[in-house]
Amino acid sequence: DFRAIVIEQETEGGRILAHTAEVRQLSDAFLMAGEVTVAVEFSDLNYKDGLAIAGRPGVARVSPLIPGIDLVGVVESSEDPRWRPGDRVVLNGDGIGESHHGGLAERARVRGDALVRVPDTLLNEQAAAIGTAGFTAMLAVLALERTGVDPEEVRESGSSVLVTGAAGGVGSVAVSLLAKLGYPVTASTGRPVEHGGYLTDLGAAAIIDRAELSDPGRPLQTQRWAGAIDSVGSHTLANVLAQTRYGGTVAACGLAQGADLPATVMPFILRGVTLTGINSVEAPPALRETAWRRLGTDLDEEALAAMTRFIPLAEAIPAADDILAGRLHGRTVVDVRA
Ligand code: NAP
Repeated sequence: DFRAIVIEQETEGGRILAHTAEVRQLSDAFLMAGEVTVAVEFSDLNYKDGLAIAGRPGVARVSPLIPGIDLVGVVESSEDPRWRPGDRVVLNGDGIGESHHGGLAERARVRGDALVRVPDTLLNEQAAAIGTAGFTAMLAVLALERTGVDPEEVRESGSSVLVTGAAGGVGSVAVSLLAKLGYPVTASTGRPVEHGGYLTDLGAAAIIDRAELSDPGRPLQTQRWAGAIDSVGSHTLANVLAQTRYGGTVAACGLAQGADLPATVMPFILRGVTLTGINSVEAPPALRETAWRRLGTDLDEEALAAMTRFIPLAEAIPAADDILAGRLHGRTVVDVRA
């Protein structure tokens, strides 16, 4: 037997009529098909988990469902020759917590293909603190590197890389990774007074108020950023594109303000700006390995600890409302055994 959070919904024509989220005692018969059974130690709370647990549409695709798009733990048994009992593994996305039972449970059965070995340089709880949010931030950093945004050049030219939604999960890890890699970082946040010190401690060189970016703006504006990692979308992303200097790259990760993109082609055709999309859920195995290897070497341990809070399994239910309401910052790890 094992404990898990289970959400159950009654839907009609895509509308959610009734929703429950509770901790239940389950037997292995509840688990779905998969080659590898994992004794889960940690999951964590992402914006998406907040949506699923709170009964908002768009994330949970089956009912009943164990939510949790991330898990970290130890292999218990495996029909996949690549994995053996005792292996430390991490899984981000791949449909867990959406269409397949996820990480907010003491046990999970998952696809061998989707698992990544926890790098030797990381503890299991650190891998969980990174989670989908940190993995996504690393994918965005890799995209900036791939398109030639170079820390030394950015520094020498007096420009910086902008991170929006900076106090959130993706944003906090992005600020910390970029700073450690030597990029001057500007952090945009809605809570500059409360979180200015937090973001400076993570390595931000400058803080701006997100209100500067959230209203409709002109198609081309003063060139401020050599690159950007955006969790916000909508007018914010449109303004970031309009303020990105010639040849810069903007990595679009999220939609905290909105899924719309009220922009023009001007930044692309007049400034050669690149807009690159980030999708952590379907990242192929080789990219997952690369991103996790880099997280094992390029993320400052103290910064990661400073942005992370631990909660027991049952507390993930009330915390869902907190992440949706923007009351949390940084990363929230769920110790599923507590
Ligand atoms: P999170 O911890 O809730 O962070 C979101 C941050 O966005 C908030 O902390 C807040 O930062 C800012 N924000 C919230 N509402 C806003 C608004 N109306 N206007 C402007 N900024 C706003 O969530 P997360 O887990 O980091 O995820 C961030 C986004 O990325 C979400 O949209 C999520 O769905 C997406 N995501 C995408 C992928 C992918 O694969 N593409 C993976 C993970 C997450 P401040 O308080 O600093 O303003």
